[in-house]
Parts: sequence; structure tokens; C-alpha cells
Amino acid sequence: MLAVPDPGRARRVRAGGVDVTLELVTLGATPTTSFDGVLAPAQPEALHAAERLGREKLAGRRVWNVNSTAQGGGVAEMLRPLLGYARGVGVDARWAVIEGEPAFFAVTKRLHNRLHGMVGDGGPLGEAERAIYERALARNGEELAELVAPGDIVMLHDPQTAGLIPRLRECGAKVVWRCHVGLDVPNELAREAWWFLEPYVLRAEAYVFSRAAFVWDELDPARRAIIAPSIDVFAPKNRELATHRVQQILAATGLRAGRGEPGWRPVKLLEDQPLTRDDRVVLQVSRWDSLKDPVGVIQGFAEHVAGRSDAHLVYAGPDVTAVADDPEGATVHAHACELWRRLPPAARARVHLALLPMADATENALIVNALQRSADVVVQKSLAEGFGLTVAEAMWKRRAVVASRIGGIQDQVEHGVSGLLLDDPRALDAFGAAVLELLDDPQRAHALGEAAHERVRDRYLGTHSLLDYLALFERLL
Ligand code: UDP
Repeated sequence: MLAVPDPGRARRVRAGGVDVTLELVTLGATPTTSFDGVLAPAQPEALHAAERLGREKLAGRRVWNVNSTAQGGGVAEMLRPLLGYARGVGVDARWAVIEGEPAFFAVTKRLHNRLHGMVGDGGPLGEAERAIYERALARNGEELAELVAPGDIVMLHDPQTAGLIPRLRECGAKVVWRCHVGLDVPNELAREAWWFLEPYVLRAEAYVFSRAAFVWDELDPARRAIIAPSIDVFAPKNRELATHRVQQILAATGLRAGRGEPGWRPVKLLEDQPLTRDDRVVLQVSRWDSLKDPVGVIQGFAEHVAGRSDAHLVYAGPDVTAVADDPEGATVHAHACELWRRLPPAARARVHLALLPMADATENALIVNALQRSADVVVQKSLAEGFGLTVAEAMWKRRAVVASRIGGIQDQVEHGVSGLLLDDPRALDAFGAAVLELLDDPQRAHALGEAAHERVRDRYLGTHSLLDYLALFERLL
């Protein structure tokens, strides 16, 4: 029985009387009634009715989720609260994590990159890689087969688990593949990954993508489902923070001048002068990845915003100098620092590059939360994006956003209603103009922020994903 109310731990499973590699994540159960105060007036009733129906339909079945990590990464972060809510409404949701050797993960990383349309390590995806992939999954598949009963539902997440589909169908389970990766216009690299994965994916009873544009050409339209990602509004990243608490966190970490409570790890800052409490801020929070375009954000702000407003730019990302496993991030950060040093002094004084401490996930999340809540405008000037969780996070916090019209961002933001979209993310003058438009008209920014909050409330909360999945399961049964 996995109903141990300890959301943080994972344990090994015994199958066939022996210890095996599969890991079962212990999950809590969270009542969805906590959403009653968050949702629009008619929504809670509809939610609880759907839950009752789902519980009836799923009685006696387990809903297995299988992925390759219990910690870190957007998928794990989204799964934990979602499965908590599923269990909270009485669905027997479970989570198993597969294991593999480095060679297996080298292949799956390659698949992941190609699905994003990127070359990654440039290595092949041929028969040798298929053998590595299938060998690792065969072992995991046998262990799962010991646990999965006929009639169970199995949700397999991402390329790492697609190869399990045939074996789990043999168990008599309903097997669904959930792809969290995609790109607006697929290229040859993406097709290489499709080709590799299709022999498995085509055998699934349903496939779930985050957007219609991400669905692969060869897949059966009747079996596809579109489920958007969601944010957990009760997590440290998104939960309400009173203004004084926001100020305290920013002061404690050095992001703004002032005295904060002790005990917080400092943010590493590249800046001329610390921000004061009253400075207006344009913010982008992103990994140090060239697709998030830190150089374009800094240049666009320096050339088109700094001279025409009093606002400062804060570009915040994870501390890449503290972790050795992100050499690409370190390089992108170094480029951003170089650009900062070359800026004309007046512009440079307005640009702040921040490395957020990563040692404690809750601390990091609270800092992101405080940064987002204190920003006057939040930008996400990405050049490519799957969904763009940072956009939903900022919108939930009633921020006015300026973001690229790409990937899931264009689903989230309705231009001119719940934020501003940039048709060409590389056009720095248009980026600057959009940011200035909001800085110059705080009332408009406020209105866009209010609409943004409602947009997220109506579409991107965990309860929406829960209902979408329940509807899919009903369809399958
Ligand atoms: N994030 C964070 N700390 C950072 C930078 C980013 O917690 O220093 C979070 C951010 O709040 C968001 C996620 O990482 O929840 C990034 O997801 P998104 O979909 O925006 O982009 P991805 O990084 O997956 O491409």
C-alpha cells in the first residue's frame, strides 16, 4: 500500500520476491477542496462532480505513472502535486521511476533533444541505440509487469518510457503515452526521433501532447488527446506571499537593498548598485540557455528601454557556477556577463544579472516567487519554447507579461487582453516598445495582469489537468 503521506521519499520495490531497480515514489493525498477558494464561482461544483464520476469509473483500477526521475525537472514537479490531487479524490494513483545505465540515458537525451528539433550530441539513432534502449526497458518492463494488473491504466511519460508500451499492453493494461516535448514546426531532427519511437508509440491506446501542433504526423487522430501543462498554485513557487514577505526575501538574498531575515543563501549578482525597494523592474527568469535569449533580452533592454524609462532589468537564472553538470549554462551565462561589461555605463547601471542559489529547492522557489511578484513587467523573450511555465507563473501572480508568440506561450497569452505577444522574438525594437508600453501605462499593465490571473485560473491549474486526465480515462474505459 502506497498511501504513505510522505511526499518526499521514494522506495525500492520487490517484485517476484527480489529487490529490483524500479523505484516507487510515495505520494500524499491532497484534497481538491483547497481550490474552492481559488476557482471562479461555478467551477468547484463542476470539479467535484467530475471527480465523483472519475472515482466511480476508476474504482478497482490503479493509475500508474512511469517516468525516469522523481526529483528535478518539470515533469516530476508537475506529477507530484497532480498525483496528490488524484489520490485526494480517491483515485489509486501510483508513481514508478525506471532505472537505466548511462548509455540508456545518453540515447534518451538524444531523443529528447531531437524532439525539440535540436541536434544535441549529434550521435546516431540507429539499430545499436535501439538495442541499448530496448535492453534497459526490457528489465524495467518485467518489473512493472509484476505490479500492473489487467484493467489498470498506465501513463508513460516522455521518450524514456515509450519502449515499455508493448510489454505493458501484454499485461492487459490501458497504456497511454504522454509526450511533454514538442516544437511548433517539426524538422528532420524531430522526425528522426519520431521514427525511432513510433514502433512503440503507435501501439499505445492514447497519446497525450501539450499542444495540437506538437502531435506527430503518423499518429492516429482518434487516439490523441491534448492536455496543457499546469502550475501548482499552493507550491512555494506560486503560493501567495504578502508584500512585506516579498521585500524580506529580496532583501535577505541581496536582490534589493535593505535588511532581511538571516538564514537565506545570497543570490550572486553582477550589478553596479543594488536595487532599492522602490526601483521598477522588468524581469526574466530562465535557465541560462541560448533559446531563452538572455543576450537579446539584455541588448533589447539596454538599447530600447533603459534610455526611455527609469526601470531596471533583472535577468535571473539558476547558479550555474555551483553545479558542474551544466557546462552549456555556464557558457551562456559567461556570454551574458561579457555583454554586461561592454554595455555603456548608463545602461549597465540598469541591468542586474542574478544567479539564484540551487542548494534548497524550496528556497529557490520562494526567491523566484518573490522576484515575480515584485516585477512591474515580466518578459519571456524565448526563441523556442514548449509551454513556458514561467509565463503561467507570472500570469498567476497578476503580472503584465511580454512574451514571444511561440509554442505554448501563444495559448496562454491572448495578445492585448492577458499580456502582449511578440510576433518576431528577435526584433529588439519591438520588444523594447512593448515593454515601454506597459511601463508607461501602469493602469493598462494592471488590467492585463488581472486578466492574466483569470486566464491561468480558468485553464492552467492542476485541477484542469486532473479533469482532462479523468476525461481521457473515461474515454479509454
Ligand atoms: N526556474 C527556477 N529557478 C531558476 C530558473 C527557472 O525555479 O533559476 C523554474 C521556473 O520558475 C519554471 C521552470 O524553472 O518553473 C522553467 O520551466 P519553463 O517551462 O519556463 O522552461 P524550461 O526550463 O522547461 O525550458
